[in-house]
Amino acid sequence: MALMKRRDLLKAAAMALGSIRESRAAADTNHQINTVLGPIPPSDLGPTLIHEHVLVDIVGAGRIAPGRYDGGEVAGVVLPHLKQLRSLGCRTFVDCTPAYLGRDPALLARLAQSSGLHILTNTGFYGAAGGKYVPEFAFFATAEDLAARWTGEFEAGIPPTGIRPALIKIGVDAGPLSKMNGKLISAAALTHLRTGMAIASHTGDGLAAMAQLNLLKSHGVSPAAFIWVHAQDEKDRSFHRKAAEAGAWIAFDGISSETVDENIGLIRETKRAGYLRRVLISQDAVGFHVGEERGGYCPGYTFLFSDFLPQLRKSGIDEAETSMLIVESPRRALTQSD
Ligand SMILES: [Zn+2]
Repeated sequence: MALMKRRDLLKAAAMALGSIRESRAAADTNHQINTVLGPIPPSDLGPTLIHEHVLVDIVGAGRIAPGRYDGGEVAGVVLPHLKQLRSLGCRTFVDCTPAYLGRDPALLARLAQSSGLHILTNTGFYGAAGGKYVPEFAFFATAEDLAARWTGEFEAGIPPTGIRPALIKIGVDAGPLSKMNGKLISAAALTHLRTGMAIASHTGDGLAAMAQLNLLKSHGVSPAAFIWVHAQDEKDRSFHRKAAEAGAWIAFDGISSETVDENIGLIRETKRAGYLRRVLISQDAVGFHVGEERGGYCPGYTFLFSDFLPQLRKSGIDEAETSMLIVESPRRALTQSD
């Protein structure tokens, strides 16, 4: 971040700060959704990719530090792909990179401005991968401490930018839940109850998904506020059905040229079983890998719109259902509205 343009950072911060006053009351009642450039009505979200990444830095919470990449270089690599995505009709890009894994709200604000996309960012910690991405202080913190921190980001913005998150993004390994992962869920529950933000959780398997839903329920959180991220990784499809019937969101978010048949199969199965309306789709594409030459391989973000949706329609998912998958369901998941 040392090379991140200070001017851009300040501009983004000023823009976000200017809009905080009118946004808070509205966001609290779910009438507005926070983008990195300020709040918008949920009806403006439009076609949405619910789970993508501008950049990821997998060095670990103990070693991550400002200055490990040049924001200008990242923008140079990623911006053309975002513009291409916008030109295909996508309107909103949900950046699911959590803090300590490369979350960079100021850079996202700069890219939102240049691409014309709404970009959303998140609060929360990623507890999967054995805790490698959880900062040390979180091991000694209570769920309440973490919830206070995450709620603070929603209310006052992510320091030092003032940019406010639109969702809670956490991560847990396969079940049963570790002590740390249980703490993250409880913190997410408390944060949700105070802010209304949806909880998207990278989830190791179906057992962990059900354990999270149970824990959320014990806190009084509706399953409709929970997005099971990477649900496609659970091969026992009965878990999908169970979670969907409970009212949770099932995200098949690994769509790429290599997984077309698998994903069409998954989506058709949910239609047959009657819970297509609980499904979200995305690509989990990473634009820039910190530490790799020029960010390594960037698959771009257009495949879902350019190739997957046309093939999905041919498979028997009609226009209204396709629109539900990329417009209505993301909006409903982010706002828990009808
Ligand atoms: Zn991801």
